[in-house]
Amino acid sequence: MKTITIAIDGPAGAGKSTIAKIVAQKLNIHYLDTGAMYRAVALKVLQQGLDPSDHEKVISILPSTHIGVTYQHRLQRVYLDGRDVTHLLRQPEVTKAASEVATIPEVRIKLVELQRNIARNYSVVVDGRDIGTFVFPNADRKFYLTATLEERARRRWLEMREKGYDQTLEDVKRELEARDKNDMNRAFAPLRKAEDAILIDTTGKTIEQVADEVCGYLREYLG
Ligand code: C5P
Repeated sequence: MKTITIAIDGPAGAGKSTIAKIVAQKLNIHYLDTGAMYRAVALKVLQQGLDPSDHEKVISILPSTHIGVTYQHRLQRVYLDGRDVTHLLRQPEVTKAASEVATIPEVRIKLVELQRNIARNYSVVVDGRDIGTFVFPNADRKFYLTATLEERARRRWLEMREKGYDQTLEDVKRELEARDKNDMNRAFAPLRKAEDAILIDTTGKTIEQVADEVCGYLREYLG
């Protein structure tokens, strides 16, 4: 069976997941949220009372850590050791720990294998940091979404406020900056724009405008 893979990379808060969901719905294919997998590993580390920066300890729990995903109405649910943990993954402590565990090559290798297995069986819109460069270098189309740090922080702050988390805009900005630094500077599969990725700066654009732009490039698949 011929499957299609659309890769969307970029820094946190650039609008990747919102756009990926819209495109997946239009194409009637799955949305694969790879960040949620790193978040699930981070959740396990925190639940076990481990320090995410103690890489040896994190690596030691990987063989007994089972991450799985299922799809309900084409939206992803994430399972950690058989339990649906989707609702626990957006907590600020988990976000911070995910950024740390994502620098560990062993963690990435385990999750990339899972991501490739899913894309073998399903057509997917995948968002992440290393999708076009490392996970799916032969993706059918690649996009790199970005926006200024100020705008990304404001969007993330509004999102967190809506979810009931009490963080200041300055806190969110600092956290985004720290995560970008981790993602861009790690040795293994860092965040970079793939040479053949289409660059879209989402600063000052509405969700609809960005979705229209991406869908414009995907016309041939949209039929
Ligand atoms: O995209 P999201 O914010 O949910 O990702 C959480 C963290 O997981 C990111 O800060 C990043 O460090 C890491 N990540 C990654 N590679 C991916 C997806 C996410 O390193 N493909």
